[in-house]
Amino acid sequence: MQDSIIARCEAKGLRMTEQRRVVARVIGAAPDHPDVEELHARALAIDPRISIATVYRTVKLFEESGILERLEFGDGRARYEDAERDHHDHLIDVSTGEVIEFVDPEIEALQEKIAARLGFRLVGHRLELFGTPLKNR
Ligand SMILES: [Zn+2]
Repeated sequence: MQDSIIARCEAKGLRMTEQRRVVARVIGAAPDHPDVEELHARALAIDPRISIATVYRTVKLFEESGILERLEFGDGRARYEDAERDHHDHLIDVSTGEVIEFVDPEIEALQEKIAARLGFRLVGHRLELFGTPLKNR
């Protein structure tokens, strides 16, 4: 099992205040890709005194520490996800904003091949697909 976000923050020497712990818990429990406003709404349910500025600063700190990954799904809002989640790519339904996660072994292999052809060993990638649903999905 992966370490909790709080444990990873502590391992990196971040000072974990009560409110940072709340943000860490909320992100660790998120099955989706919340933006700062959504994280704030969820954090408020745990600590009604937490401000959006605190959530914003904490998320930025976690992102800079490599604990969170920042995602952009084409609507100009930054979304966040635990950087230690198993690798996956995203398909964004542009008509609803719904985000579908997927992993495709062919895409993974193809990207390694492309990197190798260009003289690189692949250490990571990010792929976002944007689409509208087919009629009979
Ligand atoms: Zn994801």
